[in-house]
Amino acid sequence: MFEIIIMTDTYRHKGLRKQLAQVLVKKGIKDNAVLTAVETIPRHLFIPDNALHKYAYEDKPFPIGSGQTISQPYTVAFQTELLKIKPREKVLEIGTGSGYQTAVLLEVGAKVFSIERQKYLYERTKELLPQLGYNTKLFYGDGYKGLPTFAPFDKIIVTAGAPYIPEDLLNQLKIGGILVIPVDEDNSQRMKKIVKLSATNFETEDLGLFRFVPLLKEKGRD
Ligand code: SAH
Repeated sequence: MFEIIIMTDTYRHKGLRKQLAQVLVKKGIKDNAVLTAVETIPRHLFIPDNALHKYAYEDKPFPIGSGQTISQPYTVAFQTELLKIKPREKVLEIGTGSGYQTAVLLEVGAKVFSIERQKYLYERTKELLPQLGYNTKLFYGDGYKGLPTFAPFDKIIVTAGAPYIPEDLLNQLKIGGILVIPVDEDNSQRMKKIVKLSATNFETEDLGLFRFVPLLKEKGRD
């Protein structure tokens, strides 16, 4: 149904992943579980354009179709590190995209529920992840609404730039839970880490500027 992806992972790819993990260490990533995930996951296989595979272990975003991108590895590592995931925690991801961030969350031990609003990306990633040995729950829907049926979540991660913090996501977080979300500011986004202290009380930390594709309203039509 989708374009043929060359599904080979080689020692050269593995070597490039080790180098990428070292680049992330230099940029400040410390969490060993996250670094091991980067060394383990064949990122090139999440990039649909085979011609880009040779660049897959550069610390850069790449197009994945439907006008979307696979996030930069540093951003994926930074957001995952902020979540402080413990094994078997329930994590809600908004913006499945290529599934790479989903795979990182699974590698660090989370139970992942991920929502994507573009039908094409949802379908493709639903096919790809099991082929790579990742089995998880993917949903086609609007991330602003979260997943009330499966709430509450220990952690929530948003992988697209949000104009504001969706209240449904705050409601679906456990007390003590963490939401990591890039929120629009001028032409980029400010990364926010929000800890739910009680049903009505939240602690917010600002963690600098990043650049994301926008979190869009409703489902896409493609
Ligand atoms: N984690 C992904 C990031 C992809 S970019 C990766 O590394 O591949 C962000 C994704 O969020 C895109 O796939 C986009 O289609 C999706 N998205 C945008 N608005 C959304 C919404 N309201 N609900 C769910 N997904 C959304």
